Parts: sequence; structure tokens; C-alpha cells
Amino acid sequence: MKKRRDTDKAHAAVGDMPAHKDQAMTDCIFCKIARGEIPAKKVYEDDEILGFHDINPQASVHFMLIPKKHIASLADAGVDDAPVLGRMLAMSGRLAREQGSAEGFRAIINTGRIGRQDVMHLHMHIIGGAQPLGRMLPASHG
Ligand code: 5GP
Ligand code: ZN
Repeated sequence: MKKRRDTDKAHAAVGDMPAHKDQAMTDCIFCKIARGEIPAKKVYEDDEILGFHDINPQASVHFMLIPKKHIASLADAGVDDAPVLGRMLAMSGRLAREQGSAEGFRAIINTGRIGRQDVMHLHMHIIGGAQPLGRMLPASHG
């Protein structure tokens, strides 16, 4: 008989998904948007990636790209996530142009407490418009 390791218990929830991650996916607002349980104004969708407008836009163009897979933050991403993260970066320019940011934009991935990440599902903000944005960080940055 195959010996169970201690770590197997934590993986009992969904296949090899750790129980805490399963719970995070159930509660996560961006997972709910990815599953279509909460509406969003989509700008892009494929099997792995969803793009949608930010509910509280900081500029005339402000949408987000997320992996549909629940990754809590960029600090939690691993090498296996490189293809989807690379595709998010690679499509951002085209989508920004389509949304009206023809001369550039800012891509922001707030990460963890220090990065002031509010929604713990990795997301890349694409922010732009017709006018240049403010400076990257406020003067209070120490
Ligand atoms: P963070 O501070 O984590 O980088 O950014 C989270 C972003 O998610 C915020 O800009 C916020 O406006 C946006 N947001 C939070 N809840 C929702 C929602 O239910 N729908 C949409 N479209 N955006 C949301
Ligand atoms: Zn999620």
C-alpha cells in the first residue's frame, strides 16, 4: 500500500489542491468574475486570461488582466506561471490601444502588503488614456 505523507492531508480538498487554496478560490472576487458569477465589463477573454474594466477607474483607460487560475499574488507565482504571465504582458499593448491608450500606458502589479495589494488574486492594471499619467510614485515614497 502507498504510504501517505503528512502533506497529503492538506491536499485532500480538491484533487491535489491544498484546502486553503480551495477556500481562497471559493471566496475570491476575481475567481468569481473569472467563473462568471459576478459580472464585469470584459475587454478580453481566452481559456487562461480574462481582461475587464476596473470598477473604480483611476484614468480614462483602466482595465485589468488576470490569470483565470487563482494565483494570490506575483510573490506567489512560480516558473510554471511564466507562460500565462508572459502572454498577459504580450497582449497588453494591443488591448491598451484598442481601449484608447494609443501612445503608451502603465502596467502595475501591486503585490502583497508592501505593494498595497487589495484583491489577493494576481492582476495587472493597465492604466492610460489620451493624457500622460501622474508620476509613478507619490512624493511620500521614502
Ligand atoms: P489592487 O489594489 O489589489 O491592486 O487593485 C484591486 C482593484 O480591483 C481596484 O482597483 C478595485 O477598484 C478593483 N476591484 C475591486 N473589486 C472589483 C470588482 O468587483 N469588479 C471590478 N471590475 N473591479 C474591482
Ligand atoms: Zn482568485
